[in-house]
Amino acid sequence: MYLQRAGFHVRLIDRDAPGKGASYGNAGVIAVSSVEPVATVGTLRQVPRMLLDDLAPLSIRWPYMPRLTPWLLRFLAASRPQRVEEISIALREICQPALDAYLPLMEMAGSTSLVRRGGWLTVYESDEAFAAASESLALKRRRGVNFDVLPAEEVRQMEPRLAPTIRHAVHFSDYSWVTSPLALSQSLAEAFQRQGGELRQATVNGFDVGASGPERINSDVGAFELEPDDLVVIAAGAHSKPLAAQLGAKVPLDTERGYHVMLPDPGLDLRMPVCHGESGFVSTTMDDGLRLAGTVELGGLAAPPNWRRADVILQHAKRILPGLNDGGAERWMGFRPSMPDSLPVIGASPRFRNVFLAFGHGHLGLTLAAVSGRMIAEMATGRPTSINAAPYKPDRF
Ligand SMILES: Cc1cc2nc3c(=O)[nH]c(=O)nc-3n(C[C@H](O)[C@H](O)[C@H](O)COP(=O)(O)OP(=O)(O)OC[C@H]3O[C@@H](n4cnc5c(N)ncnc54)[C@H](O)[C@@H]3O)c2cc1C
Repeated sequence: MYLQRAGFHVRLIDRDAPGKGASYGNAGVIAVSSVEPVATVGTLRQVPRMLLDDLAPLSIRWPYMPRLTPWLLRFLAASRPQRVEEISIALREICQPALDAYLPLMEMAGSTSLVRRGGWLTVYESDEAFAAASESLALKRRRGVNFDVLPAEEVRQMEPRLAPTIRHAVHFSDYSWVTSPLALSQSLAEAFQRQGGELRQATVNGFDVGASGPERINSDVGAFELEPDDLVVIAAGAHSKPLAAQLGAKVPLDTERGYHVMLPDPGLDLRMPVCHGESGFVSTTMDDGLRLAGTVELGGLAAPPNWRRADVILQHAKRILPGLNDGGAERWMGFRPSMPDSLPVIGASPRFRNVFLAFGHGHLGLTLAAVSGRMIAEMATGRPTSINAAPYKPDRF
């Protein structure tokens, strides 16, 4: 939509209907204050458990280990304190304008009513888990994030449905969320088409490439010919790596698999998304029920879901939200497109100036979709980007 606003005629080729993929099942949070990469010293402390417990909030599937190792080494390198500091500055810069970048598009799509403001609550049942979060809170303080640490007695004033087992909570006031990620994507896709955008349902298999760039996009329904002035943007989420490689960009993209449980009739509404600090999932009240979404499983794109991970999320949720009704629960698994340094890839291919990459948004793809689109449109028109694009360069590794 930002490319359209910049005057381009845009054809979107997707093998699925709008809003499927990872964008279907996320927790709906527009995390404008998210400044912490996944790889930190705190995460590394969890590595032994990650390797031994397939139900841990962060786990690795052993058979995938050989393929994951290069990514994991880069993940380790990204966890160095100096690097964490740099990454958090880049995250701060790109996340902060995220909602502002969305609003003009949502207004065009008539979907601003899907957005709710009111913050986000991270809750802890144990003193140990809360104490372990101190480094993370210090990082957020250094980045100027607004938050309040709540004493136990104030937690239930903020969110009355939480169990008395919650001993600590941190409220982040600047977050917002959408009550249906799917409806958001669908409304944007409709607006895109109303503005003259073309939606084509096809699986892209690759490109015919000439000396100055791609000449043809090949798909299961035939080829899409490209004119010399055409631009190509690869934004295929966790599936982008082989497509980008064909167009000259070797990026260490992998996936952090995440799960959700959708409860259509939960018997309670939350005032804001609630993240359970110990187990890494978020509970968000949506238009069609309560969504419990999160955790990370490093296991690639091919392995079948481990549904016990979703069941564990539900168990924790029933403990921290007494009276939760799990009738009609539905489970889902999706592929976060994840870079080892938790920063997206936004920029031109190192080989072809008319090829742009916009993927690898990891835990923040809903948050950063609009701001990334705006940056790509700025790059495509040769304007300076509103955000310094250097940290997201495709060839930074
Ligand atoms: C459990 C969970 C909770 C999350 N919660 C949040 C949250 O609260 N806030 C947040 O900001 N982010 C969250 N995320 C992350 C966010 O959902 C993702 O980063 C985001 O959806 C990625 O969007 P994408 O468009 O890059 O990829 P996708 O949504 O996966 O879309 C990729 C698209 O590319 C298409 N495609 C792929 N290959 C091809 C091909 N060869 N040919 C044609 N089409 C192709 C697919 O059909 C798909 O439509 C969460 C993720 C998970 C898993």
